[in-house]
Order: sequence, then C-alpha cells, then structure tokens
Amino acid sequence: MKKRRKVKKKLLAYTLTLCCTLLILGIIYFAYCIFFKNKTPELSFLETIDTSTYVEIDKYAIYGIHMNFEGTFTLPEKVEEMRLLLSNGKDTINVNWEITEEENNTYSFITSEYINEGIVLENLPIGEYYLVLQTKTHDEEQNEVIKYYSVINNTEYENLEYYTLTENGKNNKIDIEWNTYEEIPTLRFKITETKLPDDVYDITIDPGHGGVDPGKTACSDGSATNSLGYCYSGDLITEAAQNLKVALQLKENLENLGYKVILTRETDENVSIYDPMGSATMANDTKSKFNIAIHHNSSGVGSVSGLEVYIANDTNLDFASTFVDEITKNANTEASTKALYQVSNGIYQRLFTEEEIASSSVQPSRYTTNTSWYYNMREIGGISTNASNDGSFPGYPMNEHYNSNNTAEAYLLELGYMDNYSDLRNIMQNTEGYAQGITSAIETYLNQE
Ligand SMILES: [Zn+2]
Repeated sequence: MKKRRKVKKKLLAYTLTLCCTLLILGIIYFAYCIFFKNKTPELSFLETIDTSTYVEIDKYAIYGIHMNFEGTFTLPEKVEEMRLLLSNGKDTINVNWEITEEENNTYSFITSEYINEGIVLENLPIGEYYLVLQTKTHDEEQNEVIKYYSVINNTEYENLEYYTLTENGKNNKIDIEWNTYEEIPTLRFKITETKLPDDVYDITIDPGHGGVDPGKTACSDGSATNSLGYCYSGDLITEAAQNLKVALQLKENLENLGYKVILTRETDENVSIYDPMGSATMANDTKSKFNIAIHHNSSGVGSVSGLEVYIANDTNLDFASTFVDEITKNANTEASTKALYQVSNGIYQRLFTEEEIASSSVQPSRYTTNTSWYYNMREIGGISTNASNDGSFPGYPMNEHYNSNNTAEAYLLELGYMDNYSDLRNIMQNTEGYAQGITSAIETYLNQE
C-alpha cells in the first residue's frame, strides 16, 4: 500500500516537472517570437548594410498611384555600378532614377521628373521590401564586391499608408514606414492583403458647379440665353446639371468594374473645394487615387468646340492622352480647336505667368510659374502640385491637405462647348458616350501601368 503511494507521488512529481519544463519552453518560444519575429533568414541581407554612409531622402511623395523620391548621398569610394532597389533579400524591384554626380562621389537623384511617374505602388507584391542603394565594385583579386546602403529620412514627413485600387473585390495595404533593423535605419514597404476600410475609396468624381452656381448655360435649341440667363425658346441647359449627369453615369460604370467611387455631390448643391465634401478635402480624406473633375465649357464666340483635358504641373501625358483617345472615340467628338494653353492634341495646362503672379493684390507667396492656375488641380495634389492655400492668405480658404505628401492625381475634363451647337447636341444626347469614354480611359490607363 505504502509502496503504491510512493509510486503515485513519483508520477505526480514527474508530471509536474514535465509540465513546468513545457511551460518554460513555451514562454521562451513566445519571447523569441516577439523579439525576433522579423528576423527571417531573407532579411539577414540588412545586416550586411554598410552604415558608413546613408542615402538621405530630402523629399518623398505619393501622387495617385505613384511614389517619388528625391535625395543625395556621398559614397566612400568610386563604384562601377549603382542601383536603387526595393529588396526583400530574395527578390529585388529596380527603381528607376535620374542621377547626377554633383562632385566627387556625391550624387543627387530623383526617381522621376514627373509627379505621375515613379514607383507604381499598385504592382508591389505581398511581402516586406526595403529601399536600398546597391553598389558594385571589384577588389584587387578581381572579385565582385556588392554593397548595400540604406536610406534615412531628412524630411518633416513620417510614415505613409496606401491602399491599392480595388481589383476583384480585393486590395493591398502598403505601410511605408521609417524603421530600424538592428539599429540600421531603413524604409520598409510592408504589403498585406486587406479589404478597403469603409471611409477609403478608389476614385473621387467631382461634378463641377451646382446649387447657386449653374456654371455655363445654354438653350437646348442653340439660341442664346437673355441677360438674366433665361431662354426665349428651348429649355435652359446648365453645366451643373450636365456635369452631374455624366458623373452619375461614370460612377455606375466604374462601380460595375468593381471600383469604389465617391462623388463630391449627388444633387444640385454648391460645394466648395475646401468643404468636407469638396474635392481637395474629399479626394484626400478618402485616400482616393484619382480625382476626376467633370465640366463643360463655353467660349462666348460659338466657333470653338471639342474636348479639353487639363493636367497639373510636372505630369507626363500618358493618362491625359488616354482620356483624349477614349473620350473622342466613345463620345464621337473631337479634341478642342483651342490653341491657348495647349500642350498636345486635346491636352491643356495652365500655369501662373510672371504677370499673373505680380499683378494680383492678394497672392499666396508660393505661387510660381510651375503652379497650376486651376485651384482644383493645384490644391488636391499637396506638395506634388505646389498647393498653396495654407490659411494665411486673407480671402483664400484653408486647404487642410496643402502640405500633404500623399494625395490624389487630379484631372479636369472640359467635355465640350455648350455654346457650340454641334457640341451641345452631343452633350445633351450622348451622356453615356462621354461617361463610357472616361471609363475606358481609366481602364486602359490602369491596365498599362
Ligand atoms: Zn465648369
């Protein structure tokens, strides 16, 4: 009997010891996971980073679906090859850049001179990537020597968050974070699969004017309105109503393609660009990648006709020319006959001139000859488009996002001339054609990028 109890006691002791050991091992493993979970074998390349010098990032901004960097660095030696890379230690993504040697081994670079070029954030694969400079030299024995340098943040800006456009109901979230790895400063792009939060959208559409502001007006039979803005014959057609008709159809088309779309107005109301529902605020609050402003034009002479696509400063013409191609084709119209501000067929850019900057009595000091004259293009793009309305100028409303480095890419579409009868008939009868043209342009452009 006694012996039996002894065995039982021993068994209990063994079980207790085993449990304790397992518990301790569990705790150690848990701690290991917490402290070393980032230490995947692939990332050990970060430990080889040469910390004798860093690439200093002086400016970085997301405009639409592209991210751009500007920076400088000084290398300790002459190298044979240099590349800017996004690397996860296994796969690398080459980042295009324009690089200038300022003095011996000191370089400045910019990823693109165009704000709508650069790293295409839509295409980054799931995972963790780090922005590094890779250099190549040969040692005395002619062995290839590869070195890595990481980047440091020389700006007032911090981490960024980006959601890719909705595709098949799915999105990626990209956390772009200034971080350290084993005390080495890094910039990490962490790409994970997600679903868009309720308040995040793909595209903002801004039907111009509304409410007390009808925009341009015309009479449906092509006759002119009287001095009070009424028609003697025919119905009064307002730009505000036409803009909204196209915008609502465009929203439906884009939603059918799976995009999440928001309008600055869905009724006949007046919305200031700086209101919560205004495009400068809304496009950026909702993290939209694009802001498409819909307008119709008037020349006062009747002979000017056709489509005008207005672009911001420093943009390449890829998306704009796609708008021109697809809208003229689908809406059965032509590129505008207007020569003023034209940069290419159907594409227009209006920047402030020296005279305009000098002549205005109240003028934000930041206006330069590279600042868009159109406030919606200028103010939506934050630092990429030299947004200026910081609230310090009497009479200019504050733009909450004037200093943002993560903004929507803005286009202003003047679809046709309401005081040209041929354009007006098409505008009245062919809402679907115009909306389809804009839809096809967005689809075509995004498939190319
Ligand atoms: Zn307008």
